[in-house]
Amino acid sequence: MALEPGSTIGILGGGQLGRMIAVAAAQLGYRTHIFAPEKDSVAADVAARFTCAAWHDREAMQDFAQSCDVVTYEFENVPVAPLALMPDGLLAPGTKALEVAQDRMREKRFVENLGGRPAPFAEIGHESDIAAAMERIGTPAIVKTRRDGYDGKGQWRIDSAREAPTIRVPESGLVYEGFVRFDCEYSVILVRGRDGKVRFWDSPRNLHRGGILSHSELPAPDIVGAQVEQARALARTVAEELGYIGVLTLEFFATDTGPVFNEMAPRVHNSGHWTIEGAVTSQFENHVRAIAGLPLGDTSSVAGKVVMDNLIGEEALDGARYLAQDPSAHLHLYGKAEVRPGRKMGHLTRVG
Ligand code: AMP
Repeated sequence: MALEPGSTIGILGGGQLGRMIAVAAAQLGYRTHIFAPEKDSVAADVAARFTCAAWHDREAMQDFAQSCDVVTYEFENVPVAPLALMPDGLLAPGTKALEVAQDRMREKRFVENLGGRPAPFAEIGHESDIAAAMERIGTPAIVKTRRDGYDGKGQWRIDSAREAPTIRVPESGLVYEGFVRFDCEYSVILVRGRDGKVRFWDSPRNLHRGGILSHSELPAPDIVGAQVEQARALARTVAEELGYIGVLTLEFFATDTGPVFNEMAPRVHNSGHWTIEGAVTSQFENHVRAIAGLPLGDTSSVAGKVVMDNLIGEEALDGARYLAQDPSAHLHLYGKAEVRPGRKMGHLTRVG
């Protein structure tokens, strides 16, 4: 049964992804209620209601759940324990996707068990595990915190075994990952409906600066086209295994021996922002359609060439200039009050 117009969609997390989900929800006649611990929420700016409370505030979480007809999340590090207060079936996607995606070790093992190929990896639970990990995997390598890493935060490159003493192991541990020599990076973005139907958007090539996505473009190079079906098959299996509802993203390295899985995000993704103008149905609209039980929209691209550039830090201050330079550009500003280096402030999409 599809959600009636006027129903309320709850969104856990108050950032730009929540903001763009809320805009898509409004277009379909739904109201949104944001739950976030930070006072400054750019999602709350465009939502009907805002609960600003700690994730572990039981009363606030219960009241929030009661006010919503379905609840989703825009942030994969929402703690799972407080979500147990929600009635069964209210949360989409469910908590299993969160549990897997919040822990890099668990995520890699999960994907490996389903036939995917991550970079060679080793768990570092303690300083005494470092030597064995280095011995087995070698250098260069990337060391990543097992939990709470995003946008390149919580990861370091290690170029030689001499750097071993610089590695500090947090309580939740680290993952030691072999450095992958790739041709390019790309993502597979899919949406899965309540009826189990899956649709994929075209896979963009993604460029990162300092661990942060800076640019996504279509068409991706031929090497991506040659291996994307294999990557999609894995993404579909992951979605089915998780009983997933909504938009799911898997990031890959394109290598000459096929796709190497990097990480997954159980949510709409920055590398899918181009779909707002560049696809018949955007990732945000299809996420809302999926969780609301509506039929999924066509994910085809509307042009052969689509380019999305993130506006990071002060780059966003030039928004009007970009529009003056190119009348076909679409500017998205997230309304963040404070400009900080490395902060995603907006993006710019050009189609055709
Ligand atoms: P992540 O947060 O894990 O997606 O890492 C951010 C970016 O760092 C990736 O998109 C890659 O550009 C780079 N990176 C991460 N892991 C590796 C790896 N094992 N080998 C090569 N580059 C990597």
